[in-house]
Amino acid sequence: MEDVLVIGGGNAALCAAISAAELGARVLLLECAPKDFRGGNSRHTRNIRCMHDTPVDVLTDAYPEDEYFDDLLRVTGGETDEHLARLTIRSSSDVRAWMAARGVHFQRALSGTLQLSRTNAFFLGGGKALVNAYYRTAERLGVRIVYEADVRKLEMTDGRFLAASYVKNGEAQRVEARVLVAAAGGFESNLRWLREAWGPAADNFLVRGTPYNMGWVLRELIDGGAQMIGDPTQCHAIAIDARSPKFDGGIVTRLDSITLGIVVNKNGDRFYDEGEDLWPKRYAIWGRLIAQQPDQIAYSIVDAKMQRRFMPSVYPPIEANTIPELALALGLDPHALKKTVDEYNLAVEAGTFDHTILDDCKTHYLTPPKSHWAQHLDTPPYWGYPLRPGITFTYLGVKVNEHARVLLQDGVPSPNVFAAGEIMAGNILGKGYLGGIGMTIGTTFGRIAGEGAARYVMA
Ligand SMILES: Cc1cc2nc3c(=O)[nH]c(=O)nc-3n(C[C@H](O)[C@H](O)[C@H](O)COP(=O)(O)OP(=O)(O)OC[C@H]3O[C@@H](n4cnc5c(N)ncnc54)[C@H](O)[C@@H]3O)c2cc1C
Repeated sequence: MEDVLVIGGGNAALCAAISAAELGARVLLLECAPKDFRGGNSRHTRNIRCMHDTPVDVLTDAYPEDEYFDDLLRVTGGETDEHLARLTIRSSSDVRAWMAARGVHFQRALSGTLQLSRTNAFFLGGGKALVNAYYRTAERLGVRIVYEADVRKLEMTDGRFLAASYVKNGEAQRVEARVLVAAAGGFESNLRWLREAWGPAADNFLVRGTPYNMGWVLRELIDGGAQMIGDPTQCHAIAIDARSPKFDGGIVTRLDSITLGIVVNKNGDRFYDEGEDLWPKRYAIWGRLIAQQPDQIAYSIVDAKMQRRFMPSVYPPIEANTIPELALALGLDPHALKKTVDEYNLAVEAGTFDHTILDDCKTHYLTPPKSHWAQHLDTPPYWGYPLRPGITFTYLGVKVNEHARVLLQDGVPSPNVFAAGEIMAGNILGKGYLGGIGMTIGTTFGRIAGEGAARYVMA
């Protein structure tokens, strides 16, 4: 029998495995991806959101606990567990030292559209370097790692974990362990489950990260008596280039042109205020907005004045010298798009353009309005980008307490099941998103779960 079984191979699982092994537990980690694709969504990440009261290492200025929490309250509309959220925020203050001691290097924020130098510490080499460093550390500590181990079944009695079964190379294996840390992500790669939640619209979603987060472990925990938290339609989803691959396109497929022009649906109609707020506070709503449009497709349109003001796109823009020509190139009705652009141009009021603040360039008597950065679309060449909802991760998960223990239907914590990362992020993220908090949640609860699991087996 194993001491600690960790299911998952991303940030949360690795933090748990390392923490448990450091306390002397024998740890087995099952990762369903092959070695080359290990690390789940974590290998796509760039940064972690941290609180700090003064400028520290790569972080500028200060980002105190209350401001962090207020930001979280705003994006979630209050749908967060304050106790768990504050615990996560507080633990983020010393997290970089812990990470650095286990091989993660940091760098200052790079230039780009997200002004995060105060709030987010960036990983040198990105999430892939972070994941590789953690695997090296885990191996050095004696953690046994099995790749291509797809866990499909958990045996649980009265909320107590007994054993897991996984498939490797087509063969079923069974492993017993004294304690389980479930860190196998959400269900965002499971197109059938997404369809259950979203209906046929889900067929047009693209998955930004790993294809391996199928939610099998989450489902088994729920069936085994764990309390569920969150709404299956709640997720982090952004606008990405519609030409991106179905899975694993990663960070580069995101498009940051939205606030600088207009966005129309397949009928050529605008459907939301592109200038509602600063981009870092709004980018994460656009996936859901596009998901609600016909055929889940939209188009971002900018003119020559704005083309150097956003991060270069990985796919080339579709270019034309007139709006009707652009419409034809995008497959839109030229009359409809021209009408939309003409109405928009008529509504734009003169102001002083400043993309770094909520400026006074707005539309007048237009529905929906554009509240900031409204500029005439009048300077060719015009660029268009097709957009699809790009799902990052889902929020439906299992309920946990501050010890990362999974709560059962009656509210009592399971004696030996812990959860960390996306699989329990819904405790803190009822909806909305705060850039970098995914890694904060996974690191915090991964560490707590790993330490708790080790203490359980040592007791
Ligand atoms: C493109 C992109 C960019 C992102 N950027 C950031 C960022 O900069 N900062 C941030 O905070 N967050 C970011 N996120 C979100 C972040 O990736 C997640 O919040 C975080 O990585 C979750 O960690 P995790 O360990 O819970 O899940 P993951 O890292 O996804 O790990 C889940 C693991 O479980 C394994 N697994 C799944 N099912 C099974 C099974 N049945 N059996 C065995 N193993 C299984 C998977 O293979 C994977 O290794 C980004 C996500 C994406 C997709």
